[in-house]
Amino acid sequence: TTAEAASGPRVVRAARGTALSAKSWQTEAPLRMLMNNLDPEVAERPEDLVVYGGSGRAARNWESFDAIAAALRVLESNETLLVQSGKPVGVFTTHEWAPRVLIANSNLVGDWASWPEFRRLEALGLTMYGQMTAGSWIYIGTQGILQGTYETFAAIAVKRFGGSLAGTLTLTGGAGGMGGAQPLAVTMNEGVVLIVDVDESRLRRRVEHRYLDMVAVDLDEAISLVTTAQSERKPLSVGLVGNAATVFAEILERNLQVDIVTDQTSAHDPLAYLPEGVSVDDWRQLAEQDPTKFTALARESMAKQVAAMVGFLDRGAEVFDYGNSLRAEAAVGGCKRAFDIPGFVPAYIRPLFEEGKGPFRWVALSGDPADIRATDRAVVELFPENTALRRWIEQAGSSVQFEGLPARICWLGYKERHVAGLKFNEMVAQGLLRAPIVIGRDHLDSGSVASPYRETEGMADGSDAIADWPVLNALLNTASGATWVSLHHGGGVGIGRSIHAGQVVVADGTTLAAQKIERVLTNDPGSGVMRHVDAGYERAAAVARERGLQIPMLDG
Ligand code: NAD
Repeated sequence: TTAEAASGPRVVRAARGTALSAKSWQTEAPLRMLMNNLDPEVAERPEDLVVYGGSGRAARNWESFDAIAAALRVLESNETLLVQSGKPVGVFTTHEWAPRVLIANSNLVGDWASWPEFRRLEALGLTMYGQMTAGSWIYIGTQGILQGTYETFAAIAVKRFGGSLAGTLTLTGGAGGMGGAQPLAVTMNEGVVLIVDVDESRLRRRVEHRYLDMVAVDLDEAISLVTTAQSERKPLSVGLVGNAATVFAEILERNLQVDIVTDQTSAHDPLAYLPEGVSVDDWRQLAEQDPTKFTALARESMAKQVAAMVGFLDRGAEVFDYGNSLRAEAAVGGCKRAFDIPGFVPAYIRPLFEEGKGPFRWVALSGDPADIRATDRAVVELFPENTALRRWIEQAGSSVQFEGLPARICWLGYKERHVAGLKFNEMVAQGLLRAPIVIGRDHLDSGSVASPYRETEGMADGSDAIADWPVLNALLNTASGATWVSLHHGGGVGIGRSIHAGQVVVADGTTLAAQKIERVLTNDPGSGVMRHVDAGYERAAAVARERGLQIPMLDG
């Protein structure tokens, strides 16, 4: 309640088991997923409703959280709740095929789409930053990005190091909600990694959740640990408490041989990147006191960090921007060569997007890990020819510790995802799972995002900034029967730099759910293939022809 909010930090955790507090699983699911996003095991700063991505929130404030929960508990199966930047603003009579929740987060009109204006409106209580899956209630902890990160490092291994990262050293920054996946992704590829974060508690949390092996006491110890592991070709991840700007520059100066360099600090939000010379304890207060000055200092430090990264690039290392706007911010901060560094999507991910492949994920509403193990087995059986998928599911099964409700991620494409979704729904119907499954995805997907510094960087036809695609994706998912649909601005790369959509569909074992699942999970990745066909990608055109996607002007 609100009274509790005033008296101390609220602790929220999703219900487990089969007792409903809403009227059906279609509304119990968003309720549990909203709460799961704020579970202390899942969220980075649950007391502030911050889930991940700097300041990505699940609800605007605790009053809004309570009001959303209350509305979901009484929502009928022919009603739709509208959420405007984390605040419930209306309930309308719709119909049973309509989404139960429609969400719009952080959207601003073009000329107003800047961080200072966003913050002014946020301070007035009119908006909130939703990041991607924070404000759309389908964040599943660090696993959510793990496979994408694993695939990225696997692609680098193939491109540069003969298929394995054994004996190589990766240097990176940022061990937060998403960045924390990096150390495990590198060791899963058999490499050695040094990860720098200013906040020791973030590194400790990754060790606790088995994403990171250890934290070194200082740079000397860190270097000795990683170089020993490298020479023995043993996978190892080492965390170091420090500012990435300082540490990257120092490692460059010491001439340590580094093979791969990247970063996942929250550079997309200059107030969430700690400048050199500022302590973690003073961080929030200084950022609030004078955001303009703090932003300038952060950009100056980012420029220093990126200058060091360019230095590694000049020495022949594989260096890339990991989707956090670091290059763009460093360029504003005065680093002239920031864009010498390539972005990771054109380099490693786009070929997957051409097939509609992206981070498909599902969550067991029962809270029972056995439900995920059963779905893991089902997925491997459904796609027996896909050996990479089998290897991934097996590795994830043994190395990934669940955070919050048990969940799984795996990358599946067009005409694959609905096969898995239908199978899960059938398993629910047959009583093979203890409760329904929620099926969703990241907004970082093939057809759901326009983000010129990340997902749509360097599109073949120059359409990087065309944002009709994510809007069409959200409308299509709404028309296809998704349980909740969201349209956000600014996720991943910051205000002014992206527009993106999300969808979630609930497999409750009913025939109606099966029909919705088939359409949503076919059409959603289908829109990704469509987007890449339109941009002129050959593989996407071939996929459209082979798998029967109708594109009016494809062969015309
Ligand atoms: P987060 O806010 O949870 O974590 C950011 C971390 O960076 C924190 O632990 C913080 O202490 C640390 N940090 C801040 N300034 C630092 C500095 N100067 N030196 C060292 N550490 C510093 O954010 P997150 O969810 O982990 O996301 C990180 C970034 O990655 C965001 O910009 C996000 O948009 C981006 N991202 C990329 C992908 C991708 O696939 N490439 C996916 C998701 C998020």
